[in-house]
Amino acid sequence: MAGKTSVYRNVEQQFNKAADLVGLDPDVRKILARTKNEIIVNFPVIMDDGRVEMFTAYRVQHNDVLGPFKGGLRYHPLVDIDEVRALATWMTWKSAVINLPLGGAKGGIQLDPSKYSSDELERITRRFTFALGDNIGPEYDIPAPDVNTNSQIMAWILDTYLSTISAKERQSCFHVVTGKPIQSGGSIGRDKATGQGVVYLIERWAKDERFDLPGASYFVQGYGNVGSWTARLLKGDGAKLVAVEDATGAIFSQEGLDADDLYEYCASHGGVSGYPKGKAVDHEQFLGTEADIFVPAAMENQITGDTAGLLKVKLVAEGANGPTDIEGDGILQEKGIALLPDILCNAGGVTVSYFEWLQNKRSEFWDLEEVDAKLHKLMISAYERVRDAAKRYQTDWRTAAYAVALSRLEKVYKERGIFP
Ligand code: GLU
Repeated sequence: MAGKTSVYRNVEQQFNKAADLVGLDPDVRKILARTKNEIIVNFPVIMDDGRVEMFTAYRVQHNDVLGPFKGGLRYHPLVDIDEVRALATWMTWKSAVINLPLGGAKGGIQLDPSKYSSDELERITRRFTFALGDNIGPEYDIPAPDVNTNSQIMAWILDTYLSTISAKERQSCFHVVTGKPIQSGGSIGRDKATGQGVVYLIERWAKDERFDLPGASYFVQGYGNVGSWTARLLKGDGAKLVAVEDATGAIFSQEGLDADDLYEYCASHGGVSGYPKGKAVDHEQFLGTEADIFVPAAMENQITGDTAGLLKVKLVAEGANGPTDIEGDGILQEKGIALLPDILCNAGGVTVSYFEWLQNKRSEFWDLEEVDAKLHKLMISAYERVRDAAKRYQTDWRTAAYAVALSRLEKVYKERGIFP
């Protein structure tokens, strides 16, 4: 997969284009063009062999005018301030598009988690949580899973946070983090939520376009939480998975890959490489796969000026955050490829995080039917708002999604004014 260029540059370009289009108030524009807080912590952790290693971690809080800061934590060697700043800003837009009473934040640790034992990851996570201290909190800033983090890591964050506050407050602070294991206060349906949201939107798009999903073909980049759930749920619609790429390589099968079988294989082999029922292909062949739908569900800057020309699909549904840069967007539009943009398409995760947060606050436990029905409703009404904005402004769907988000934020700033 491609190397790293500035991700925040993409946010700035997307933001400026939409702000110009909607004639965003110049004062609101100044505010939203900056992040509110940027926290960088360096901390030591004892490794299994007794050595001490230093880690650098980030939490960027972009905006909290709509509600508490909200967003995931990623563990990845390429995590840096530029990336976290971009991801935090996208979270603000995402919550605003869906109409959630939440702001935007993101964090991460610059490390390759595959190089550490489970005990080491636990100590790193706990020490990171301790270093963040009061910078997170159940009504202030609520982390969640992202790339290479999962419900176990959220459980360690919860336990560490609760251990550092007074005993009397503990029972009322379970919503300091979302994406927890169910038994530790997680929500049913959170695990599949991002993929489920992607699939709800693909289904809705197919209905609008009178496009038949049964028999349609799709391919997926990334087979972590988002990619694998999207692939497995689209299988339920009778669509055919023809190619998958992850950090270990890419595989293709004209007859179709079984998404569940591949999921099992990845769990025991650490990735798609060597999967016996698929043929190995290179990155360019993968992007050029003849199929109807492409779901990028890995890292940023994958569909760019260099690679967008390879795509032969009808629809790109962005499971990842920031997979397409501004040049890539231009090429998709020239080629007439439809787009479900990240801040709309992958918002199912934070939406069910919001449900988890609510359940914790109210000491409730919703069943899967309730979670899915509420998720469906919020995703589809956001889809309709974005679709209608694209028509109204005669613009592409990414800019339309920004227009929806920015208009909402602008309204709130106008109502509240600027202190003092
Ligand atoms: N990391 C996910 C995202 O990028 C989920 C964030 C959350 O649940 O707070 O949207």
